[in-house]
Amino acid sequence: MTHAYNSSYLQMSDSTYQLALAELAKYGFEAELRYDASLPSFQISSQGNRLTIAAPDSTELLYGVYELAERFGGYCFFEPGVDRYNPSLRQTIFPDGILVPAKKPPLAIRGFIQEFPFDQETPLLFDWMAKNKLNYLNVWMKYFDELSPERKEMAAIRGIYLDSGHHNFSYWIPSGKYHRQHPEFFAERDGKRICPADTKDVLLLGSEQLCTTNQELRDEIVKNMLRYLEENPQLKVLSLIPNDGFGWCECPECSKFYDKNEKGELYSVSEHVYKADRIYHDMLRYVAAKLHEVRPDITLEFVAYVNYTRPAPGFTLDPNTMVQFANYWRCINHRISDAACPFNSRLADDLLAWVKAKRGGKVLVYEYFMGINFYLSLPMIHNWDIFPEVQWYAEQGIDGVLTQFHLTHWCAYGMNYYMFAKAARGEECQSANHKMFQALFGKDAPQAEAFCRQVKEFLLSVQGKCHIPYPHSLFSRVTQQQCQELLQSAKDLQAQAPQDTFRQNIVLWMEYLCRFKDLFDKCQNGTLTITHVDDFQNWAHSLQNRRILVLTRLDMYLPAIRDAIKQGKTWLHFNIDWEDNYIKKHHDLWTGHK
Ligand SMILES: [Zn+2]
Ligand SMILES: [Zn+2]
Repeated sequence: MTHAYNSSYLQMSDSTYQLALAELAKYGFEAELRYDASLPSFQISSQGNRLTIAAPDSTELLYGVYELAERFGGYCFFEPGVDRYNPSLRQTIFPDGILVPAKKPPLAIRGFIQEFPFDQETPLLFDWMAKNKLNYLNVWMKYFDELSPERKEMAAIRGIYLDSGHHNFSYWIPSGKYHRQHPEFFAERDGKRICPADTKDVLLLGSEQLCTTNQELRDEIVKNMLRYLEENPQLKVLSLIPNDGFGWCECPECSKFYDKNEKGELYSVSEHVYKADRIYHDMLRYVAAKLHEVRPDITLEFVAYVNYTRPAPGFTLDPNTMVQFANYWRCINHRISDAACPFNSRLADDLLAWVKAKRGGKVLVYEYFMGINFYLSLPMIHNWDIFPEVQWYAEQGIDGVLTQFHLTHWCAYGMNYYMFAKAARGEECQSANHKMFQALFGKDAPQAEAFCRQVKEFLLSVQGKCHIPYPHSLFSRVTQQQCQELLQSAKDLQAQAPQDTFRQNIVLWMEYLCRFKDLFDKCQNGTLTITHVDDFQNWAHSLQNRRILVLTRLDMYLPAIRDAIKQGKTWLHFNIDWEDNYIKKHHDLWTGHK
């Protein structure tokens, strides 16, 4: 190949190539690793039982090594930090020819959104992502800043781009630094300039924005962005993303950008506020132009979400801009492309408006293959649906999909993440799922698959069919009897291999479902006490380190139930009035009430 000169240079200096060699040896294979710039991805072939991995770059070579280990070596990289190994599945004799053909992946950008700090499990995450060929990790800027250079390098060597971004108005313009001198930088609400709390918990919708039409503010953001790029020369993407929630500025200048009669809608959780697409996109246009005057190489990323889901009239996705379209409060009982779903069909329509607005820019989907944070590890069985969804995204011209995730609930949603990674590389649904169940459950794979289908049927059984992933949506429409049946099936599966930790965890996961449902039912019939909530929380904490629950999220959520008890209110979700109103509306819609 004409790349011989380049490749020998790369081989000596390239840490990714060195890692690929080391991993090849670790998983017990011998193979020639060879660069071939003409290939769209790695390709594995055999000649006289000598293996060759050819690939266009060193990351793809590394992916080829992991593919070899999983496909022919008896390994399964289902869970971070755990290499499952079944020697009986190891293959040592290979036919001549191409064993795994090169194939352009349906999604160029594949990855996770991390809404928690890096910690001691971060190396496991980077390792898992590379093994599963995920190449993008979107993380809050404050967490990116805290990550050590060694860890950043670990990600880079594994082909993972760390995107320092997410909600960041408050990062670019922290109120602690600016409010005293520039109160006019902050949104005007009810005639007064707000003073946002910099420390506000990121997961509760802060609804504190900036006065985005202010010229000096816009220039300050660009200045801060350019400085951040100097401090972090490895970055290729910067984002400008409103703080979570609503709360846009109502000063006279900003007010010119809204029609206060034109509100959002139910499907985008924004019918209580006016649309903010025009004001947001006006600011983006300005900031992109100023940033690109100095750094035309940097991609400016932004989100489409709640009351700014669609491109404002005339707004286009120009080169080096990228939108993340958030499927916030999507229905998990219908596929995203299902025209019959009143929620997803509207989200899909907005998403396609972004594809139409492409003029050299990119569209990513911000997915929720774990429900939302406050679905709290309740079931979402999506390991089959992910394949047609990813295929649909790719066919529509979507460049990438990222999903929210946690390591600490891998038992609940690991199958979704694992199958997402397979789907995003173009693997076939039935065979990928079949191999996963085989690797995880051996001879009991059919029983395990039947259990997952039973959980899926349970979710689909709800009146009104749609299901937005928050607890009330599930518990208000299923019975304790149904939950107990799932628990029994989980126990039956465990009985076949009582020592298997994963099966034990599945039983505990279903027990959690039953206990949570019991809490809900007690609340409905007025017998729930604080002690019940305490007992539930204590029991949940006994599951620590089992990768079933994200305890920090549960601990944030349970006080809302206690508050509801104290106030004599019906617990719907977080006791936030506007949010509770959506939950009531959904419920009425599904159950046919008016
Ligand atoms: Zn304003
Ligand atoms: Zn639906």
